[in-house]
Amino acid sequence: MKNPSREEIERLKEEYPEGCTVELIEMNDPYHPVPSGTRGKVTDVDDMGTIHVRWSTGSSLGVAYGEDSCVRIRTCPICKKEYKGRPALSRVDSKTEICSECYLNK
Ligand SMILES: [Zn+2]
Repeated sequence: MKNPSREEIERLKEEYPEGCTVELIEMNDPYHPVPSGTRGKVTDVDDMGTIHVRWSTGSSLGVAYGEDSCVRIRTCPICKKEYKGRPALSRVDSKTEICSECYLNK
């Protein structure tokens, strides 16, 4: 498996800061995988690109770069709803991250 470049690691660290909430999409662990859809809090992203997570199941299996996948859960500051994946930027100040629904309704 190819190791992630430093740019990719930096992007991961930006997308998954310590304490943010993630939901697991898939983990390729044949023995004790964390079930898909499990949520947890990010504790660290290491220099191999592994996202370390404290899962709600009590597991702390990391999300391995290029093998497993998870998505960040954000809470929209306008409607207070949770949404997955990429935020839209508010047209008001061009930096507040909001959900796509609020973006389209404005
Ligand atoms: Zn919203």
